[in-house]
Amino acid sequence: MPGGVKADVRTYQMYVNGEWVDSKSNKTFPVYDPATEEVIAQVPDANADDVNRAVAAAKAAFEDGPWGSATAQERGRVLFRLSEKIRQNTATLAELESRNTGKPIVEAEFDIADVATCFEYYGGLATKILGFVNPVPDNAVSLTLKEPIGVAGQIIPWNYPLLMAAWKLAPALAAGCTCILKPAEQTPITVLEMANWLADVGLPPGVVNIITGFGETCGAPLVQHPDVNKIAFTGSAAVGKIIVKQAADTVKRVTLELGGKSPNIFFADADFEAAIDGALFGVFINQGEVCSAGSRILVQKPIYKQFVDAMTEKAKKVKLGAPLDRDTKMGPLVSKDQYDRVRSYQEVGKKEAKLAFGGGRAEQFAKGYYVQPTIFYDVTNSARIAREEIFGPVATVIPFEDEKEAVKIANDSPYGLAAAVWTRDIFKAFRAVKAIRAGIVWVNHMQPTYVEAPWGGYKQSGFGRELGPWGIEEYLETKQVYINLNEAPIAWY
Ligand code: NAP
Ligand code: MG
Repeated sequence: MPGGVKADVRTYQMYVNGEWVDSKSNKTFPVYDPATEEVIAQVPDANADDVNRAVAAAKAAFEDGPWGSATAQERGRVLFRLSEKIRQNTATLAELESRNTGKPIVEAEFDIADVATCFEYYGGLATKILGFVNPVPDNAVSLTLKEPIGVAGQIIPWNYPLLMAAWKLAPALAAGCTCILKPAEQTPITVLEMANWLADVGLPPGVVNIITGFGETCGAPLVQHPDVNKIAFTGSAAVGKIIVKQAADTVKRVTLELGGKSPNIFFADADFEAAIDGALFGVFINQGEVCSAGSRILVQKPIYKQFVDAMTEKAKKVKLGAPLDRDTKMGPLVSKDQYDRVRSYQEVGKKEAKLAFGGGRAEQFAKGYYVQPTIFYDVTNSARIAREEIFGPVATVIPFEDEKEAVKIANDSPYGLAAAVWTRDIFKAFRAVKAIRAGIVWVNHMQPTYVEAPWGGYKQSGFGRELGPWGIEEYLETKQVYINLNEAPIAWY
């Protein structure tokens, strides 16, 4: 039985200052399996008192604990050991992630492999944080030093629970920060399981604290806390805007990874078969609960009708099923709230556009938050289903005439997270790549994501970058040091 789980009921405690604790109020809240709608765990309902305790622990660990003097090599080795623990426990973690989120087990296994790779990557990067010698015109040495920002508050969503935790914790620890992480209320389990290994891999108490609670009562006090130096947030644009305002009073560093309404653009010369797969994969993977989902499918007119028909035929074959079934390609949505939200957009879509496929609940399941993969076509880019992030398996297909119009439609969105362009013409592809205002642009693919390459958005998709060396930079301050080499007085007075 892991340290944070009491007896045989899955009642978790949370991990603060190297100890498993209940919330100060002793309140808990339930966690569900979205395929069965049953409660699978109880977790502590943390509020401002618990946030204060966790922040005090993280501050002490940063200022007074051994972590502050750990060498970069030592920090790196901690991350390597954590990566190994994750790899050794992939099957258990993937199963828990799949049960809690509803995502297909095969996708959950990919996620956990990515988690391990993320810790490993930043383990290596810990020893590559470099300073700089500045060429000042004086008899002096001017240095640029990189230092950890300090205490980082990290708030994550429910679509990739452990992976989002890794994207936050790994670079912060490589940089030498200490952390308080709040998982999404729907999906706190895998990150609590991971906390079982934090002491074993060599993290001193207080370096990583995991607190479970709700956004308004646990997330907000973390954002407002004066001893938290930085907030890293992944979630909706609506909450991101609140966070920026709440962080202003203490002038915190903030990075935001928000939502999107990403265009997936198909020119008539694209490889047709690959294009159809790319359109479906781009929007239906992870039940469409993906920030970079290719939810606006822009198709050039000569292939438009054929494209909608072929997408529809293939969508009929997408296998919905139990998350733990290895043949399942789409599981239930994560929660009742998310189900209601997606269902309501399916209804909005029926009024705004033509329905090619789906449009309702997946009625073959007696229980669970299952919706049909849904394809709307003849959508105008001003429709709500083309402008608002649905965060579910709802595709909106929009026709376009030429390259110029495709780029115009693509950029006509408050968001700018990701985009993809499908064509056999490298010149056309690169013209589009340069013209599209988005943080990630794929050519002839959609969704591959690597820890070595930057991730983040333009416009209302947020600011700051995660992954790669960019990710670690967001947890570092820059200090300028000037060392005078003139032995004589400065001769001013
Ligand atoms: P959300 O409602 O914005 O919540 C995200 C996190 O913020 C949760 O932990 C939430 O707590 C917390 N929160 C809510 N209100 C808060 C407040 N006032 N102060 C502080 N924290 C608060 O998003 P979600 O529904 O979990 O996730 C879906 C969204 O995440 C989508 O918009 C998606 O595009 C985005 N996303 C973006 C990326 C990316 O890399 N750009 C990746 C994944 C997801 P609760 O759990 O209690 O609500
Ligand atoms: Mg929420």
